[in-house]
Amino acid sequence: MTKPVIAIVGRPNVGKSTIFNRIVGERVSIVEDIPGVTRDRIYSSADWLTHEFNIIDTGGIEIGDEPFLEQIRAQAEIAIQEADVIIFMTNGREGVTLADEQVAKILYKTKKPVVLAVNKIDNPDMREMIYDFYSLGFGEPFPISGSHGLGLGDLLDECAKHFPKEDEEQYSEDTIKFSLIGRPNVGKSSLVNAFLGQDRVIVSDIAGTTRDAIDTPYSYDGQEYVIIDTAGMRKRGKVYESTEKYSVLRAMRAIERSDVVLVVLNADEGIQEQDKKIAGYAHEAGKAIVIVVNKWDAVEKDDKTMNLFTQQIREHFLYLHYAPIIFVSAKTKQRVHQILSLVQRVSENHSMRIQSSILNEVIEDAIARNPAPTDKGRRLRIYYTTQVAIKPPTFVTFVNDPELMHFSYERFLENRIRETFDFEGTPIRMIARARD
Ligand code: GDP
Ligand code: GDP
Repeated sequence: MTKPVIAIVGRPNVGKSTIFNRIVGERVSIVEDIPGVTRDRIYSSADWLTHEFNIIDTGGIEIGDEPFLEQIRAQAEIAIQEADVIIFMTNGREGVTLADEQVAKILYKTKKPVVLAVNKIDNPDMREMIYDFYSLGFGEPFPISGSHGLGLGDLLDECAKHFPKEDEEQYSEDTIKFSLIGRPNVGKSSLVNAFLGQDRVIVSDIAGTTRDAIDTPYSYDGQEYVIIDTAGMRKRGKVYESTEKYSVLRAMRAIERSDVVLVVLNADEGIQEQDKKIAGYAHEAGKAIVIVVNKWDAVEKDDKTMNLFTQQIREHFLYLHYAPIIFVSAKTKQRVHQILSLVQRVSENHSMRIQSSILNEVIEDAIARNPAPTDKGRRLRIYYTTQVAIKPPTFVTFVNDPELMHFSYERFLENRIRETFDFEGTPIRMIARARD
């Protein structure tokens, strides 16, 4: 299921990021703990009552030295492109400004639902300030206060009314959905063309943003695949499409819809910050991952080069220890045909289920070799482990006190599970839960 997306737009200083943070709450992202990966606070999952959605703060996407108007225009266009519902945010204390009208003008072009929010209405006496905003032409303005957290419930209720009906998954259960993620020019489109055997990806800049237009179905060796968001690989046209924040956002959206993510690196340029950010997100999202080092033809090498490169990748992507690495060339097609079988293999691992009886034998054996730790005189007791989910494989261990389950012991158990079963290419989630 694809979650609906809300985007917040509006001129600077109306309170977009304040509201974004309120809605997102204190979600700690493990990506933030990965050294070298900076916080990316413009896109996050969130929930309200029974609704789960993703939210974008378009105000966080700054476009080089473009003039002010160009910036907000681009941000509004991104909202139109990416969102199911748009929150148009204004500042009640300042009334309707020229810049608000400029934003409104761009939003008139979209058929997507726009919910008008008037922020900084910090107390009920100020409510009459919202009437002015009817003139923007988006119907009833919703008074909110980011600093006091007021009115957010009504605002989100209104947004939720416009969420698309749960769309049926359009691909069959057996279809493997994957995406190629990486900085511009690492060779993503060339690789896709190399699988497909023809120049099918770089089509003209089709307007339309329907999912069908951006996904490329493909069948190989009796297996159905869908390459997600091949449109994201098109040559950049609009001014915002070349900004890093936007391409990261685009990548995050593609990752979310994928089972398997191919993190494409350029052998010629080594590993860069943006590579880590995107790979970190794929890991956090629990996707199966293959690291593809492209342009291998362009590297001068001897018999040690591949090992050296592997070592570097392992050092930079410590948390991706489970991801297989493949060295390819889209240009000469060296090993390109192996990519899809690797995708298939890690996808199987990603949805593998382990019988509880076998799993518990492995865990008991692990405990026998390396007894559970004690903390302040109390010993961790492990009663039972069971796999509760696939994609990614998720294991719940029932214990006497989850506080006693240290990260390092959890890692030890994970490693024992990995040594016994083939979970290559997939993250594993371990959860300790108290048994009543
Ligand atoms: P953005 O540029 O639209 O993302 O705006 P920010 O979220 O950075 O907020 C701009 C300023 O407005 C900050 O100083 C906030 O503390 C302040 N602000 C945000 N929401 C409210 C609110 O509801 N009431 C008041 N009085 N100030 C607010
Ligand atoms: P994308 O932006 O990641 O989709 O990258 P492209 O597929 O557009 O490739 C960017 C440039 O790298 C183009 O000039 C390609 O011809 C070149 N390129 C792609 N793959 C290879 C490769 O395996 N070897 C070499 N030498 N060049 C490549």
